[in-house]
Amino acid sequence: MIHINNLQKTYGETAVLKDVNVTIAEGEVVSIIGPSGAGKSTLLRCINLLEVPTAGELTVDQKPVHYRANRKGKLTMMSQYRLQWLRTRVGMVFQQFNLWPHKTVLQNVIEGPTVIHRLPKAEAVRKAEELLDKVGLLHKAGEYPGNLSGGQQQRVAIARALAMEPKVMLFDEPTSALDPELVNEVLELMVRLAKEGMTMIVVTHEMNFARNISDRVLFMEQGQITRQGPPDELFGNP
Ligand code: ADP
Ligand code: ADP
Repeated sequence: MIHINNLQKTYGETAVLKDVNVTIAEGEVVSIIGPSGAGKSTLLRCINLLEVPTAGELTVDQKPVHYRANRKGKLTMMSQYRLQWLRTRVGMVFQQFNLWPHKTVLQNVIEGPTVIHRLPKAEAVRKAEELLDKVGLLHKAGEYPGNLSGGQQQRVAIARALAMEPKVMLFDEPTSALDPELVNEVLELMVRLAKEGMTMIVVTHEMNFARNISDRVLFMEQGQITRQGPPDELFGNP
C-alpha cells in the first residue's frame, strides 16, 4: 500500500529524516514509537505531502507520488494536481483534531466528499450520517465542534477522514491532546477500524495500542527507523 525508499527531509542543515525505508502492506496496522524529536510526525506528514520530502521515493496505492518543490519548499502547481489524488487516498487524523470550528459536525464531514469527490449533497449527507452513527455521534450532527468534548471531536475528525474513503489512515498522536478519561473512546474506535482491515499508520505513545493492536512496530530515533518488528519481538513476550 505504501512504499518509502530513501526518504530524507532536511530543514536547512538539520536532517530530520535520514534515509527512511519502509513498506506497508494493505490492511497492516503499524505503530511508530520513539523519543520526541525523532522525526515520527515528519515521516507521517511526508506521506501525504503536508511536508515536501527533500529526497526519496514514495509510492501510495501502487502509484508513484511525484512531488516537486519550488525554491521556497512549497509544492509546484504540477504537484498540486497530484496532491488532490493523494489526499483522497490518504486520510489523516491530527493531535489537535483540526475540525472547522464554524461548521457543524455534519458540515465538517460532508465537506470533502462534496467539494473533492463532487458527491451530490443528499448522498454526502446520507454517507456522513452513516459515519457519524458508526462513531456514535449522529446525535451531535448539528452541533459545532466547540460544544463537543475532545474525544467527541476526535471521533468526528476520524469520521471526516473516513468520508473520503481513504485507502490508508495516518494518525499523529490522536489521543495525546485528550483528557485521560476520553482516550479510550478514541482508541476503541481505532481498534474497530484496525479489525475492519483498514491500513493504518499510527504515531503513538499508547503502548497498549502499539503492543496489542499493531501488526508491526517501528522504533524511530534521530530520523531513522532503528528497530522494527512484530510487537512481541520488539517488546518481548510478557
Ligand atoms: P517527533 O514527531 O518524533 O517528535 P518531529 O517529526 O515532530 O518529531 O520533529 C523532528 C525534528 O524536526 C525535531 O527536532 C523538530 O524540531 C524538527 N522540525 C520539525 N518541523 C520543523 C520545521 N518546520 N523546521 C525546522 N525543524 C523542524
Ligand atoms: P454524549 O452522550 O452527549 O455523546 P458523552 O456521554 O459521550 O456525551 O460524554 C461527553 C460529555 O462531555 C457530553 O455530555 C458532552 O456534552 C460533554 N461536553 C461538551 N462539551 C465539552 C467540553 N468542551 N469539554 C468536555 N466535555 C464536554
